[in-house]
Amino acid sequence: MHSRSSELFRAAQKRIPGGVNSPVRAFRNVDGEPFFVERAEGSRIWDVDGNEYIDYVGSWGPAILGHAPKAVVDAVRETATRGLSFGIPNSLEVELAELICQWMPSIEKIRMVNSGTEAAMSCIRLARGFTGRDKIIKFDGCYHGHVDALLVKSGSGALTHGRPDSAGVPKDLAALTISLPFNDVDLVRKAFRENEIGAVILEPIPANAGLYFPREGFLSTVRDECTKHGALLIFDEVMTGFRVARGGAQEIYGIKPDLTALGKIIGGGLPVGAFGGRAEIMDQLSPDGPVYQAGTLSGNPLAMAAGLAQLRELERIDGWNKLEKLGAQFEDLARDAIAPAKVDITFHRIGSMFCLFFAGGPIVDLAGAQRSDLKAFAKFFHACLKRGVYFAPSQFETGFISTAHSSSDVERTVVVMREAITEIAR
Ligand SMILES: *Cc1c(COP(=O)(O)O)cnc(C)c1O
Repeated sequence: MHSRSSELFRAAQKRIPGGVNSPVRAFRNVDGEPFFVERAEGSRIWDVDGNEYIDYVGSWGPAILGHAPKAVVDAVRETATRGLSFGIPNSLEVELAELICQWMPSIEKIRMVNSGTEAAMSCIRLARGFTGRDKIIKFDGCYHGHVDALLVKSGSGALTHGRPDSAGVPKDLAALTISLPFNDVDLVRKAFRENEIGAVILEPIPANAGLYFPREGFLSTVRDECTKHGALLIFDEVMTGFRVARGGAQEIYGIKPDLTALGKIIGGGLPVGAFGGRAEIMDQLSPDGPVYQAGTLSGNPLAMAAGLAQLRELERIDGWNKLEKLGAQFEDLARDAIAPAKVDITFHRIGSMFCLFFAGGPIVDLAGAQRSDLKAFAKFFHACLKRGVYFAPSQFETGFISTAHSSSDVERTVVVMREAITEIAR
Protein backbone atom coordinates (compact mmCIF):
# COMPACT_ATOMS: atom_id res chain seq x y z
CA MET A 1 0.00 0.00 0.00
CA HIS A 2 1.46 3.34 -1.01
CA SER A 3 0.77 6.19 1.36
CA ARG A 4 2.54 9.12 2.94
CA SER A 5 2.55 7.17 6.25
CA SER A 6 4.29 4.18 4.72
CA GLU A 7 6.85 6.46 3.01
CA LEU A 8 7.60 8.12 6.32
CA PHE A 9 7.82 4.76 8.05
CA ARG A 10 10.40 3.55 5.48
CA ALA A 11 12.46 6.70 6.12
CA ALA A 12 12.04 6.38 9.89
CA GLN A 13 13.26 2.78 9.89
CA LYS A 14 16.54 3.89 8.30
CA ARG A 15 17.33 6.32 11.11
CA ILE A 16 15.31 5.28 14.17
CA PRO A 17 15.43 1.71 15.54
CA GLY A 18 12.24 0.02 14.42
CA GLY A 19 11.16 3.39 13.03
CA VAL A 20 9.75 4.46 16.39
CA ASN A 21 10.80 6.16 19.59
CA SER A 22 8.79 3.79 21.81
CA PRO A 23 8.28 0.15 20.75
CA VAL A 24 4.50 -0.31 21.01
CA ARG A 25 4.05 2.39 18.36
CA ALA A 26 5.49 0.04 15.73
CA PHE A 27 2.15 -1.90 15.56
CA ARG A 28 4.07 -5.20 15.56
CA ASN A 29 1.60 -6.93 17.86
CA VAL A 30 -1.18 -6.34 15.37
CA ASP A 31 1.03 -7.22 12.40
CA GLY A 32 0.75 -3.76 10.97
CA GLU A 33 2.48 -0.47 10.35
CA PRO A 34 1.87 2.75 12.23
CA PHE A 35 0.17 5.75 10.72
CA PHE A 36 1.90 9.11 11.07
CA VAL A 37 -0.08 11.88 12.71
CA GLU A 38 -0.75 15.19 11.02
CA ARG A 39 -2.66 16.75 13.90
CA ALA A 40 -5.05 15.96 16.72
CA GLU A 41 -7.86 17.88 18.33
CA GLY A 42 -10.50 16.87 20.85
CA SER A 43 -11.42 13.20 20.41
CA ARG A 44 -9.98 13.08 16.88
CA ILE A 45 -6.66 12.38 15.29
CA TRP A 46 -5.79 12.85 11.58
CA ASP A 47 -3.02 11.02 9.79
CA VAL A 48 -0.78 12.43 7.07
CA ASP A 49 -2.96 10.73 4.44
CA GLY A 50 -6.06 12.61 5.54
CA ASN A 51 -7.75 9.77 7.45
CA GLU A 52 -9.69 10.74 10.55
CA TYR A 53 -9.93 8.54 13.65
CA ILE A 54 -11.81 8.64 16.92
CA ASP A 55 -8.87 8.18 19.29
CA TYR A 56 -8.96 5.96 22.40
CA VAL A 57 -5.21 6.00 23.02
CA GLY A 58 -4.99 9.65 24.08
CA SER A 59 -1.20 9.68 23.87
CA TRP A 60 -1.30 6.59 26.19
CA GLY A 61 -3.06 8.46 28.98
CA PRO A 62 -2.10 12.12 29.25
CA ALA A 63 -4.85 13.47 26.97
CA ILE A 64 -7.67 13.29 29.52
CA LEU A 65 -9.18 16.53 28.17
CA GLY A 66 -8.77 15.29 24.61
CA HIS A 67 -6.11 16.61 22.24
CA ALA A 68 -4.94 20.21 22.25
CA PRO A 69 -7.42 21.47 24.86
CA LYS A 70 -7.64 25.26 24.72
CA ALA A 71 -6.94 25.78 28.42
CA VAL A 72 -3.65 23.85 28.21
CA VAL A 73 -2.51 25.22 24.85
CA ASP A 74 -3.17 28.79 26.03
CA ALA A 75 -1.21 28.23 29.25
CA VAL A 76 1.77 26.81 27.37
CA ARG A 77 1.70 29.63 24.82
CA GLU A 78 1.52 32.32 27.49
CA THR A 79 4.29 30.73 29.58
CA ALA A 80 6.57 30.26 26.56
CA THR A 81 6.71 34.00 25.94
CA ARG A 82 8.49 34.35 29.29
CA GLY A 83 11.17 31.71 28.64
CA LEU A 84 11.39 27.99 27.96
CA SER A 85 13.64 26.66 30.71
CA PHE A 86 15.43 28.32 33.58
CA GLY A 87 17.16 25.64 35.62
CA ILE A 88 16.41 27.77 38.65
CA PRO A 89 13.20 27.68 40.73
CA ASN A 90 10.00 29.13 39.26
CA SER A 91 6.64 29.71 40.96
CA LEU A 92 4.76 27.20 38.78
CA GLU A 93 6.69 24.33 40.44
CA VAL A 94 5.36 25.40 43.82
CA GLU A 95 1.81 25.77 42.52
CA LEU A 96 1.77 22.29 40.98
CA ALA A 97 3.40 20.74 44.06
CA GLU A 98 0.78 22.33 46.33
CA LEU A 99 -2.10 21.25 44.13
CA ILE A 100 -0.95 17.62 43.94
CA CYS A 101 -0.33 17.43 47.71
CA GLN A 102 -3.82 18.79 48.32
CA TRP A 103 -5.55 16.34 45.97
CA MET A 104 -3.48 13.32 47.03
CA PRO A 105 -3.03 13.66 50.80
CA SER A 106 -0.58 10.74 51.14
CA ILE A 107 1.86 13.06 49.37
CA GLU A 108 3.34 15.55 51.83
CA LYS A 109 6.32 16.44 49.67
CA ILE A 110 6.86 15.90 45.97
CA ARG A 111 9.64 16.19 43.42
CA MET A 112 9.14 16.74 39.69
CA VAL A 113 10.95 14.66 37.08
CA ASN A 114 10.53 14.21 33.32
CA SER A 115 8.86 10.84 32.85
CA GLY A 116 7.03 8.06 34.63
CA THR A 117 10.12 5.88 34.28
CA GLU A 118 12.17 8.42 36.18
CA ALA A 119 9.50 8.69 38.86
CA ALA A 120 9.38 4.92 39.47
CA MET A 121 13.17 4.61 39.36
CA SER A 122 13.56 7.39 41.91
CA CYS A 123 10.95 5.81 44.22
CA ILE A 124 12.95 2.56 44.24
CA ARG A 125 16.25 4.28 44.98
CA LEU A 126 14.65 6.38 47.70
CA ALA A 127 12.95 3.38 49.29
CA ARG A 128 16.24 1.45 49.30
CA GLY A 129 18.05 4.44 50.75
CA PHE A 130 15.42 4.97 53.43
CA THR A 131 15.08 1.34 54.53
CA GLY A 132 18.69 0.26 53.90
CA ARG A 133 17.30 -2.86 52.18
CA ASP A 134 17.82 -3.86 48.55
CA LYS A 135 15.11 -6.40 47.79
CA ILE A 136 11.86 -5.27 46.23
CA ILE A 137 8.60 -6.96 45.32
CA LYS A 138 6.75 -6.15 42.11
CA PHE A 139 3.87 -7.93 40.38
CA ASP A 140 3.77 -9.81 37.08
CA GLY A 141 2.32 -7.62 34.34
CA CYS A 142 2.72 -4.36 36.27
CA TYR A 143 4.78 -1.90 34.24
CA HIS A 144 6.81 0.81 35.91
CA GLY A 145 8.70 2.21 32.95
CA HIS A 146 11.95 0.85 31.55
CA VAL A 147 13.78 0.86 34.89
CA ASP A 148 16.45 -1.89 35.06
CA ALA A 149 15.29 -3.37 38.37
CA LEU A 150 11.64 -3.28 37.28
CA LEU A 151 11.91 -4.85 33.83
CA VAL A 152 10.97 -8.23 35.22
CA LYS A 153 7.67 -9.65 33.97
CA SER A 154 6.67 -6.12 33.21
CA GLY A 155 3.72 -6.15 30.84
CA SER A 156 2.77 -3.84 27.98
CA GLY A 157 5.65 -3.01 25.61
CA ALA A 158 7.81 -5.85 26.85
CA LEU A 159 4.95 -8.35 26.58
CA THR A 160 3.92 -7.11 23.19
CA HIS A 161 7.35 -8.00 21.91
CA GLY A 162 7.27 -11.40 23.53
CA ARG A 163 10.27 -10.76 25.75
CA PRO A 164 9.27 -10.32 29.37
CA ASP A 165 12.77 -9.34 30.39
CA SER A 166 15.18 -7.04 28.64
CA ALA A 167 18.69 -7.85 27.48
CA GLY A 168 21.15 -5.57 29.22
CA VAL A 169 19.67 -5.85 32.71
CA PRO A 170 22.37 -7.30 35.00
CA LYS A 171 21.32 -10.65 36.48
CA ASP A 172 22.54 -9.56 39.88
CA LEU A 173 20.24 -6.56 39.78
CA ALA A 174 17.21 -8.54 38.55
CA ALA A 175 17.88 -11.01 41.38
CA LEU A 176 16.93 -8.28 43.85
CA THR A 177 13.46 -8.07 42.29
CA ILE A 178 10.83 -10.60 43.32
CA SER A 179 7.89 -10.66 40.89
CA LEU A 180 4.66 -12.22 42.13
CA PRO A 181 1.24 -12.85 40.54
CA PHE A 182 -1.08 -9.91 41.21
CA ASN A 183 -3.93 -10.59 43.64
CA ASP A 184 -2.18 -13.49 45.41
CA VAL A 185 -1.95 -12.52 49.09
CA ASP A 186 -0.47 -15.86 50.20
CA LEU A 187 2.58 -15.40 47.98
CA VAL A 188 3.02 -11.84 49.27
CA ARG A 189 3.04 -13.10 52.86
CA LYS A 190 5.45 -15.89 51.96
CA ALA A 191 7.85 -13.48 50.20
CA PHE A 192 7.86 -11.26 53.28
CA ARG A 193 8.55 -14.24 55.56
CA GLU A 194 11.49 -15.40 53.47
CA ASN A 195 13.15 -12.10 52.50
CA GLU A 196 14.11 -8.75 53.91
CA ILE A 197 11.99 -6.54 51.70
CA GLY A 198 12.68 -2.82 51.24
CA ALA A 199 9.67 -1.92 49.15
CA VAL A 200 6.66 -3.20 47.29
CA ILE A 201 5.77 -1.40 44.06
CA LEU A 202 2.50 -1.95 42.23
CA GLU A 203 -0.08 -0.41 39.97
CA PRO A 204 -3.11 -0.30 42.27
CA ILE A 205 -5.19 -0.87 39.14
CA PRO A 206 -2.96 -2.81 36.74
CA ALA A 207 -3.39 -1.27 33.30
CA ASN A 208 -0.32 -2.35 31.37
CA ALA A 209 -1.29 -5.97 30.65
CA GLY A 210 -4.78 -5.09 29.61
CA LEU A 211 -6.82 -3.84 32.56
CA TYR A 212 -7.82 -5.77 35.68
CA PHE A 213 -8.60 -4.98 39.27
CA PRO A 214 -7.36 -5.70 42.77
CA ARG A 215 -9.49 -8.26 44.59
CA GLU A 216 -11.23 -7.20 47.78
CA GLY A 217 -8.58 -7.10 50.51
CA PHE A 218 -5.53 -7.45 48.25
CA LEU A 219 -4.25 -3.88 48.54
CA SER A 220 -4.97 -3.68 52.27
CA THR A 221 -3.09 -6.93 52.88
CA VAL A 222 -0.08 -5.60 50.98
CA ARG A 223 -0.32 -2.38 53.00
CA ASP A 224 -0.44 -4.33 56.28
CA GLU A 225 2.49 -6.57 55.35
CA CYS A 226 4.62 -3.54 54.43
CA THR A 227 3.81 -1.81 57.71
CA LYS A 228 4.42 -4.96 59.74
CA HIS A 229 7.83 -5.62 58.16
CA GLY A 230 9.06 -2.03 57.83
CA ALA A 231 8.93 -1.98 54.02
CA LEU A 232 7.66 0.95 51.99
CA LEU A 233 4.57 0.67 49.83
CA ILE A 234 4.92 2.42 46.48
CA PHE A 235 1.85 3.03 44.34
CA ASP A 236 2.66 3.60 40.71
CA GLU A 237 -0.19 5.91 39.73
CA VAL A 238 1.48 7.17 36.56
CA MET A 239 -1.60 6.02 34.68
CA THR A 240 -4.36 6.06 37.30
CA GLY A 241 -3.35 9.30 39.04
CA PHE A 242 -5.97 12.02 38.43
CA ARG A 243 -7.71 9.73 35.93
CA VAL A 244 -9.82 7.28 37.94
CA ALA A 245 -10.61 9.95 40.55
CA ARG A 246 -9.30 13.33 41.65
CA GLY A 247 -7.18 11.57 44.26
CA GLY A 248 -6.26 8.57 42.09
CA ALA A 249 -6.73 4.88 42.85
CA GLN A 250 -5.56 5.44 46.43
CA GLU A 251 -8.65 7.57 47.01
CA ILE A 252 -10.97 4.92 45.53
CA TYR A 253 -9.54 2.04 47.56
CA GLY A 254 -8.80 4.08 50.68
CA ILE A 255 -5.17 2.93 50.96
CA LYS A 256 -2.32 5.24 51.90
CA PRO A 257 0.96 4.36 50.17
CA ASP A 258 4.29 5.66 51.51
CA LEU A 259 5.38 6.85 48.08
CA THR A 260 3.51 7.51 44.84
CA ALA A 261 4.84 7.76 41.29
CA LEU A 262 2.97 10.07 38.93
CA GLY A 263 3.23 11.10 35.28
CA LYS A 264 1.11 11.28 32.14
CA ILE A 265 -1.89 13.47 33.09
CA ILE A 266 0.12 15.81 35.36
CA GLY A 267 2.13 16.97 32.35
CA GLY A 268 -0.85 17.92 30.20
CA GLY A 269 0.89 16.28 27.21
CA LEU A 270 4.39 17.57 28.00
CA PRO A 271 7.10 15.27 29.36
CA VAL A 272 6.53 15.18 33.12
CA GLY A 273 6.71 12.74 35.99
CA ALA A 274 6.71 13.26 39.73
CA PHE A 275 7.13 11.25 42.88
CA GLY A 276 6.14 12.07 46.40
CA GLY A 277 5.03 10.77 49.75
CA ARG A 278 5.67 11.04 53.45
CA ALA A 279 7.87 14.03 54.30
CA GLU A 280 10.14 11.93 56.50
CA ILE A 281 10.99 9.75 53.48
CA MET A 282 11.18 12.55 50.91
CA ASP A 283 13.61 14.43 53.18
CA GLN A 284 16.16 11.70 52.47
CA LEU A 285 16.60 13.17 48.97
CA SER A 286 19.48 15.43 48.05
CA PRO A 287 20.20 18.21 48.96
CA ASP A 288 18.67 17.45 52.40
CA GLY A 289 19.53 13.76 52.54
CA PRO A 290 21.91 11.14 51.16
CA VAL A 291 19.77 9.81 48.26
CA TYR A 292 20.91 11.55 45.09
CA GLN A 293 18.37 12.62 42.50
CA ALA A 294 18.45 15.50 40.00
CA GLY A 295 17.25 16.76 36.61
CA THR A 296 18.31 19.60 34.27
CA LEU A 297 14.79 20.09 32.92
CA SER A 298 12.84 18.97 36.02
CA GLY A 299 10.13 21.46 36.94
CA ASN A 300 10.28 22.93 33.45
CA PRO A 301 7.95 25.97 33.29
CA LEU A 302 6.07 24.87 30.16
CA ALA A 303 5.47 21.41 31.59
CA MET A 304 4.35 22.82 34.95
CA ALA A 305 2.02 25.30 33.24
CA ALA A 306 0.51 22.56 31.08
CA GLY A 307 -0.05 20.27 34.05
CA LEU A 308 -1.57 22.97 36.21
CA ALA A 309 -3.90 24.10 33.43
CA GLN A 310 -4.99 20.52 32.74
CA LEU A 311 -5.72 19.66 36.39
CA ARG A 312 -7.57 22.93 37.04
CA GLU A 313 -9.64 22.53 33.91
CA LEU A 314 -10.53 18.96 34.88
CA GLU A 315 -11.79 20.20 38.21
CA ARG A 316 -13.59 23.20 36.68
CA ILE A 317 -15.63 21.04 34.30
CA ASP A 318 -16.17 18.27 36.88
CA GLY A 319 -14.21 16.02 34.54
CA TRP A 320 -14.33 12.82 36.60
CA ASN A 321 -18.10 12.87 36.77
CA LYS A 322 -18.34 13.50 33.05
CA LEU A 323 -15.88 10.67 32.32
CA GLU A 324 -17.81 8.23 34.50
CA LYS A 325 -21.03 9.03 32.60
CA LEU A 326 -19.36 8.59 29.21
CA GLY A 327 -17.63 5.44 30.43
CA ALA A 328 -20.92 3.98 31.67
CA GLN A 329 -22.63 4.76 28.36
CA PHE A 330 -19.76 3.11 26.49
CA GLU A 331 -19.88 0.06 28.75
CA ASP A 332 -23.65 -0.43 28.34
CA LEU A 333 -23.48 -0.21 24.56
CA ALA A 334 -20.28 -2.26 24.31
CA ARG A 335 -21.68 -5.08 26.44
CA ASP A 336 -24.72 -5.28 24.14
CA ALA A 337 -22.42 -5.42 21.13
CA ILE A 338 -20.25 -8.13 22.66
CA ALA A 339 -23.06 -10.36 23.93
CA PRO A 340 -23.90 -12.05 20.59
CA ALA A 341 -20.21 -12.42 19.58
CA LYS A 342 -19.03 -15.88 18.59
CA VAL A 343 -15.65 -15.28 20.23
CA ASP A 344 -15.01 -14.94 23.98
CA ILE A 345 -14.61 -11.30 25.00
CA THR A 346 -14.25 -9.99 28.55
CA PHE A 347 -14.94 -6.29 29.00
CA HIS A 348 -13.36 -4.37 31.89
CA ARG A 349 -13.88 -0.72 32.80
CA ILE A 350 -13.26 1.72 35.59
CA GLY A 351 -14.25 5.34 34.92
CA SER A 352 -12.69 6.33 31.61
CA MET A 353 -10.33 3.32 31.37
CA PHE A 354 -11.42 0.16 29.58
CA CYS A 355 -10.15 -3.04 27.97
CA LEU A 356 -11.61 -5.75 25.76
CA PHE A 357 -9.83 -9.03 26.37
CA PHE A 358 -10.31 -11.61 23.65
CA ALA A 359 -10.59 -14.32 26.32
CA GLY A 360 -13.19 -15.64 28.74
CA GLY A 361 -13.27 -14.25 32.28
CA PRO A 362 -12.55 -13.90 35.07
CA ILE A 363 -9.23 -12.12 34.45
CA VAL A 364 -7.44 -11.02 37.63
CA ASP A 365 -3.77 -11.27 36.73
CA LEU A 366 -1.19 -11.49 33.94
CA ALA A 367 -1.73 -15.21 33.40
CA GLY A 368 -5.43 -14.50 32.78
CA ALA A 369 -4.64 -11.67 30.36
CA GLN A 370 -2.23 -13.92 28.49
CA ARG A 371 -5.03 -16.36 27.68
CA SER A 372 -6.24 -13.77 25.15
CA ASP A 373 -6.51 -14.69 21.49
CA LEU A 374 -3.98 -12.24 20.04
CA LYS A 375 -4.88 -13.09 16.43
CA ALA A 376 -8.53 -12.23 17.08
CA PHE A 377 -7.46 -9.01 18.79
CA ALA A 378 -5.27 -8.02 15.83
CA LYS A 379 -8.14 -8.62 13.39
CA PHE A 380 -10.48 -6.61 15.59
CA PHE A 381 -7.96 -3.77 15.82
CA HIS A 382 -7.59 -3.48 12.04
CA ALA A 383 -11.33 -3.83 11.43
CA CYS A 384 -11.90 -0.87 13.78
CA LEU A 385 -9.01 1.22 12.43
CA LYS A 386 -10.16 1.00 8.83
CA ARG A 387 -13.59 2.20 10.00
CA GLY A 388 -12.06 5.22 11.75
CA VAL A 389 -11.74 4.04 15.35
CA TYR A 390 -8.24 3.93 16.81
CA PHE A 391 -7.80 1.58 19.78
CA ALA A 392 -4.33 0.83 21.17
CA PRO A 393 -2.41 -1.51 18.84
CA SER A 394 -1.93 -4.21 21.49
CA GLN A 395 -4.14 -6.50 23.55
CA PHE A 396 -2.03 -5.58 26.56
CA GLU A 397 -2.99 -1.91 26.68
CA THR A 398 -5.83 0.05 28.20
CA GLY A 399 -8.24 2.32 26.30
CA PHE A 400 -8.93 5.88 27.42
CA ILE A 401 -11.98 8.06 27.01
CA SER A 402 -11.43 11.82 27.28
CA THR A 403 -13.76 14.62 28.28
CA ALA A 404 -13.66 15.69 24.62
CA HIS A 405 -15.40 12.49 23.52
CA SER A 406 -19.11 12.97 22.91
CA SER A 407 -22.04 10.62 23.32
CA SER A 408 -22.22 10.37 19.56
CA ASP A 409 -18.50 9.46 19.36
CA VAL A 410 -19.25 6.62 21.75
CA GLU A 411 -22.31 5.51 19.76
CA ARG A 412 -20.37 5.58 16.50
CA THR A 413 -17.55 3.61 18.12
CA VAL A 414 -19.85 0.83 19.25
CA VAL A 415 -21.42 0.58 15.78
CA VAL A 416 -17.89 0.06 14.46
CA MET A 417 -17.11 -2.50 17.18
CA ARG A 418 -20.23 -4.46 16.26
CA GLU A 419 -19.19 -4.58 12.60
CA ALA A 420 -15.63 -5.51 13.58
CA ILE A 421 -16.79 -8.35 15.82
CA THR A 422 -19.00 -9.72 13.02
CA GLU A 423 -16.14 -9.40 10.53
CA ILE A 424 -13.60 -11.27 12.65
CA ALA A 425 -16.04 -14.15 13.30
CA ARG A 426 -16.30 -14.85 9.57
C1 LIG B 1 3.36 4.84 31.37
C2 LIG B 1 3.70 4.25 32.66
C3 LIG B 1 4.98 4.37 33.21
C4 LIG B 1 6.14 4.95 32.45
O1 LIG B 1 5.98 6.30 32.16
P1 LIG B 1 6.88 6.94 30.99
O2 LIG B 1 6.53 8.39 31.04
O3 LIG B 1 6.48 6.24 29.74
O4 LIG B 1 8.31 6.70 31.34
C5 LIG B 1 5.21 3.89 34.48
N1 LIG B 1 4.22 3.32 35.18
C6 LIG B 1 2.98 3.18 34.70
C7 LIG B 1 1.91 2.57 35.54
C8 LIG B 1 2.68 3.62 33.42
O5 LIG B 1 1.45 3.44 32.92
